[in-house]
Amino acid sequence: MLEIIRPSAPFYVQFEVTDACNHRCFFCYNEAAKSRGAQLSTDEAKRLLDQMREAGVFSVNFNGGEPLSRPDFFELAEHAKTLGFDIHLNTNATLIDDDTADRLAGLFPSLCTSALAATPEKHDKLVGGVPGAFMRMQAGVNRVLKRGMMVEVNVCTFKGNYQELFDIAAVMARPGVHVFCVTRYIMASPTGADQVLGVPETLEVLSSLERIKQELPTYNEVKLPGPVPYCELPPEHHARLQAWNTPCQAGYGLCRISPQGDMTPCPLSDHKIGNIREQGFSALWQSSRWDSFTHIEHLPTACRKCEDLQSCRGGCIYYDDCLVACGHTPQTRKWIS
Ligand code: SF4
Ligand code: SF4
Repeated sequence: MLEIIRPSAPFYVQFEVTDACNHRCFFCYNEAAKSRGAQLSTDEAKRLLDQMREAGVFSVNFNGGEPLSRPDFFELAEHAKTLGFDIHLNTNATLIDDDTADRLAGLFPSLCTSALAATPEKHDKLVGGVPGAFMRMQAGVNRVLKRGMMVEVNVCTFKGNYQELFDIAAVMARPGVHVFCVTRYIMASPTGADQVLGVPETLEVLSSLERIKQELPTYNEVKLPGPVPYCELPPEHHARLQAWNTPCQAGYGLCRISPQGDMTPCPLSDHKIGNIREQGFSALWQSSRWDSFTHIEHLPTACRKCEDLQSCRGGCIYYDDCLVACGHTPQTRKWIS
């Protein structure tokens, strides 16, 4: 049986500093409107960063919600920077005025933002009906680029926008916007079933990525970070997937800390290992609750027996779990024992 060595600390941590957000994207798993309890205080969050550093974590990604809506965001980012972390930021970029851009550029080499459509009207609608959101995002991006930061653009792709991936990439393309990323929509609630990409749509996404890489040279990197399980597509496309997929690191190179201090394998997972208010970061990372990851028992039986396991690694491991939790049946070999 294949065993995977878990390192003594994750390489990077997705630190969700708040559930709050000024957008209401239909696909968001954060459910910003619902309170999940008191988020970590400034002191608790700084103590957590200290513990992560002691444990040997290399990189911290500030995520949310919208991290810039947290009043002490810069205090936390400065603390992380002082500790020597490689720090990153996911933001919708709409709250970046000139002062914020100055402060960000003093701390972060780059940020990752989100574009959902090639036109302002459609993007504004998809982020929950927020007029001006697309233009504010573009202005925020331009402000940080002017100050020398690099920008990564992520598109959450679903049935309503997968055909315009190339157009979105073209609208966002400019020097300094160096990475274009596509993630497939993951069901956050049963009402989103009609937006899940099927095989024909996923194949079209791969074709769009190939075209973007060829025709838009300002992008140094074009990525598909939520890997597609090989068995979801016909075998003749597996080599294409191998070229695009980035193997899932959940539970090995990566964990997530929620705004309330819960440690889970990744932001999509509700598999709670424990809470940082009750145990230190290292103790949680070394908890026996991770044993299923060492023996890859967190993957379905079909994956554990699969000859493609080494390169496929089960795809995005929580993608299908979210579908199942929403009453959807994934159409992959993965689910046949
Ligand atoms: S069974 Fe699992 S490892 Fe095999 S191709 Fe499907 S998702 Fe990948
Ligand atoms: S489960 Fe999916 S979203 Fe989570 S780390 Fe793995 S690939 Fe990324």
